[in-house]
Amino acid sequence: RPHRDEAHLAGLNPAQREAAAFGLAAPHGWDADPLLILAGAGSGKTQTLSHRAAHLVLAGVDPRRILLLTFSRRAAEEMTRRAHTICDAALAERGRRRQSVKLPWAGTFHAIGARLLREYAPRLGLEPAFSILDRSDAADLMDVARHDAGLTRRDDPNAKRFPRKDTCLAIYSATVNRQARLVDVLDGYFPWCREHHDDLKRLFADYTARKQDRATLDYDDLLLYWQLVMREPALAAEIGARFDHVLIDEYQDTNGLQAAIISGLKPDGRGVTAVGDDAQAIYGFRAAEVDHILNFPKTFCGTHVVTLEQNYRSSQAILNAANALIGEASRAYAKQLFTERGPGTRPRHVTVMDSAAEARYVVDAVLARRETGVDLKRQGVLFRNGHHANELEIELIARNVPFKKYGGLKFLEAAHVKDFLGLLRWADNPRHEIAAWRTMQLVPGVGPGTARQAVDALTAGNDEIAVLADFRPARADQTAWRAMIDTVAAMVGDTADWPGVLVPAAAWYKTILRERYEAPTTAREADIDDLVRIAERYADVPAFLTELTLDPPQATGDHNDDALLDEDYLILSTVHSAKGQEWDSVHVLHVADGTFPSEFSTKTEAGLEEERRLLYVALTRAKNELQVISPLRYYVPEQPKYGDRHVYGAASRFFTPRVLACFEQVTDKSALPATSGIDAAGKPSADRPSLDLASAARSLWD
Ligand code: ATP
Ligand code: MG
Repeated sequence: RPHRDEAHLAGLNPAQREAAAFGLAAPHGWDADPLLILAGAGSGKTQTLSHRAAHLVLAGVDPRRILLLTFSRRAAEEMTRRAHTICDAALAERGRRRQSVKLPWAGTFHAIGARLLREYAPRLGLEPAFSILDRSDAADLMDVARHDAGLTRRDDPNAKRFPRKDTCLAIYSATVNRQARLVDVLDGYFPWCREHHDDLKRLFADYTARKQDRATLDYDDLLLYWQLVMREPALAAEIGARFDHVLIDEYQDTNGLQAAIISGLKPDGRGVTAVGDDAQAIYGFRAAEVDHILNFPKTFCGTHVVTLEQNYRSSQAILNAANALIGEASRAYAKQLFTERGPGTRPRHVTVMDSAAEARYVVDAVLARRETGVDLKRQGVLFRNGHHANELEIELIARNVPFKKYGGLKFLEAAHVKDFLGLLRWADNPRHEIAAWRTMQLVPGVGPGTARQAVDALTAGNDEIAVLADFRPARADQTAWRAMIDTVAAMVGDTADWPGVLVPAAAWYKTILRERYEAPTTAREADIDDLVRIAERYADVPAFLTELTLDPPQATGDHNDDALLDEDYLILSTVHSAKGQEWDSVHVLHVADGTFPSEFSTKTEAGLEEERRLLYVALTRAKNELQVISPLRYYVPEQPKYGDRHVYGAASRFFTPRVLACFEQVTDKSALPATSGIDAAGKPSADRPSLDLASAARSLWD
């Protein structure tokens, strides 16, 4: 029975309650043994962690002394909100005045890392006002370094090409995040780049030096530097002592750097609560290692392990399907989930002809459910890759169904948004060469080469923007060049009035936009206005840029959620971005061999197993209803070897007889050539071939 003071935990089951309140009875204060909650999907791990945060605060722990690490900003906000609600209700119950409970140290590893590094910068020889490079800025900087080192020259046409900028960055990132030697990373993951070992090593040294020169850090640096700080015993002790409790959700997806940071903060693991599910480890491709969660009890001796087996999310029929799928994995995952909820409707496996038919089918299904009272917001459409939803997006727009898309090409990856942010980044840090280079190319007539020379002139001139006035790019529009210099110079000189300079910056950029695109630019201009509005909410632009670079709003409109609160819209999301979430009705798109599992992941056993866990994550997002859709043929972008845009798919190899048995089989009319291709007179109709035999035959030889 819950203690009187634990009334707020009454909604939890005994195992959850034990975890939420663990350690607090200790006679010597709030010190607690390391705690690991290892449990399956939908068993209330995140819920329990929110309760634990609330419980700690109610028991007297200063909220500023709780560090809560999550996988996205959204997750941090959601958990903070839940903890707040729980505290509020408990205080009201006790007749105490409500107080606002904030957890100021809730966020992603990267965001918290950035904050600590800025704070400690003076003691680390770091420029406190460092800028953060997003992935594509980092790739551009890598590219500049590649060119300058002469690695892209091909004097000998038979010599093997040096890896592209994105590959270089991926190798660099894998080496840093795995804490491994370059040679091992090349052997293990990029064997075709092995011969470039020495050049890569030099390139990475140069890339690192350039970042330091320019007071810029990339995403990996935020973890790497934080981890380096934690290797300094005095500093580690000082930072570790700021937090009594370190709570981490989704621990199965931590990488070597993150695990080292946790050990640095709390060497004996006291006060650490880690939560996760080894069957949901899906970030191996970003160097996450499931061993960190499995070895947690070995790393921190005295760990108390709590497992949760009851699932509160899904119907038994959905759990059966998920259990069958994960049951065929090459390694065994401990848990079989059960629920006390009813059996529910059997999940459906729907065969459709192609992605156009899939889009029609899903929109019909979504709208039919809305008719029966399941709002769009309570439905989710999930896919392996962002582009798998392209046809669906078009269909939704055509049929006026509002939606938001998470993952895939994001709002901030759109060229115009990046351009405008580049302008702000340059003004924020005049030494930010990639931002300067990008902004200069906005001026009509200025190409990459000219911009490069201008950047060199700028460096030679001590990064004083004014020196650019003497640099007259020959083919450039001189008025626009001058206007750019004036705009940036005004912003640099006027940091005290950042909100004030945003408006002229937007005005300048919009004239550029109108000149660049022939098509109407209203939507793009609206995005810029959105950005200005968001920026104005921050104390200053540097704070805004840090936040945005680290944890970008994932979809247009994500930032004005208040306005959207009453609106109903459908969520489209990659499975990776759907982690931790749930919907009444879930539709999984494009489940065919080659798309899910993805073609690139099926080459290794480890890759294939990660795909299986990814599909497991997708299935376990559903509460009441689940549909998995398999097109008979699908579109593969940018793969010249296929010749044709459509490839004939085989059924996903994960749908073995045992798994299929958990699904009701449905065949969409589009996938029934025998009936759909026959007209009223019983003759095959001439319009729209239902099978493209020529390309099917060709694809046999690929
Ligand atoms: P995932 O592995 O997908 O992240 P999870 O283990 O974190 O899942 P939660 O998201 O915390 O699970 O919970 C799943 C659902 O179950 C939520 O809707 C939550 O409110 C509900 N839930 C959790 N615990 C209980 C409980 N004791 N009683 C009723 N509902 C619960
Ligand atoms: Mg969770």
